Amino acid sequence: KFSARPELGSLKLYNSGLTVDDIAARAKGHRIAKLASNENPHGPNDAVQAAMRDAIARPFIYPDPSARALADEIARQTGVEKSRVILGDGSEDLLNVLARAVLNAGDEVVTLFPSFPLHEDYATMMGATVTRIGLTPSYEIDIDALLAAASRPVRLTLLANPMNPAGLWLGPDELDALLAAQHPESLLCLDEAYVEYAAGPDYASAVERLATHGKPLLILRTFSKAYGLAGLRIGYGISNSDDVIRAMHLVRTPFNTNAVAQAAALAALTHTDEMAEAIADTLRERVRMAEGLTALGLRVLPSRGNFLFVDCGQPSAEVADRLIDHGVIVKPWKQEGFESFLRVSVGLGWENDQFLEAMARIL
Ligand code: PMP
Repeated sequence: KFSARPELGSLKLYNSGLTVDDIAARAKGHRIAKLASNENPHGPNDAVQAAMRDAIARPFIYPDPSARALADEIARQTGVEKSRVILGDGSEDLLNVLARAVLNAGDEVVTLFPSFPLHEDYATMMGATVTRIGLTPSYEIDIDALLAAASRPVRLTLLANPMNPAGLWLGPDELDALLAAQHPESLLCLDEAYVEYAAGPDYASAVERLATHGKPLLILRTFSKAYGLAGLRIGYGISNSDDVIRAMHLVRTPFNTNAVAQAAALAALTHTDEMAEAIADTLRERVRMAEGLTALGLRVLPSRGNFLFVDCGQPSAEVADRLIDHGVIVKPWKQEGFESFLRVSVGLGWENDQFLEAMARIL
């Protein structure tokens, strides 16, 4: 009998749920509000659509393996050196590449909990051990525990800011404290998938600290969220460390971003006006949804992402299952201690209405 690597034994398949057809059959005539994956339903703007159409016209040509034009624009906009940018097939790909590039069996990885499951899974896959920093009893990031863990010579500290699924975030002072606490031999990776939704005086991107930080730092970002390109699979990493970027280039597949995604991402970076309008709409809707859920008596954690983390006060898997009958797809959280929480993306106005109305009926 064939057996896979023992490290894989504890992993679960990601997103193994109902098919689109199953959901359509159960939604019985409702429009489907897909609020499960933190996409941006406003989608890409006309300039991006045009760039996609141009790029698809020559599908027989391999894409640029180093995505030079896009990487150079990212370098220009973030102020990082051109050689310290790496593209990936979504930031998921870069999380995988990162794990394979830097983790040895037995290494320790520190991450926040509840977490984006892939932050843990790729570490587990490599045989590393994961130290989870949980929330405080009042559902805040346990910053003291995080600083204490990050100050030890762990191999990697990896966290999303803002956090997924909780939506919580490190403020500028907390980020600076983390950067100061980081052990000089550890790599710190900040996954900023939701950075575009977090802008404001109480949030700071680590990009602003990259040039001056003396210890290894990697920042991951994606075109799947605010840029509205989740279906094309493209994200990037930037670092202050040549060694980290080189190691990641060594393990990635040579053509890990496709030509259409590269062209769309480049156009998206240079045409951001409509994106700003979509972000503003999402932020207004986020407030409205949080108010609606609070009015139903539910606890909603503060969020700087395009999603909310909501305590249903009952198993969220059951709530999520019943929402399907109302044409609404959300993500019931499955990690230990958070089984009463669901994560719901902030969608278009009608989608959020449909969700709030369904919640009122179900609860
Ligand atoms: N990081 C975080 C924190 C995320 O929430 C997500 C998407 N849910 C990703 C990375 C992956 O995004 P993508 O692969 O689409 O770039």
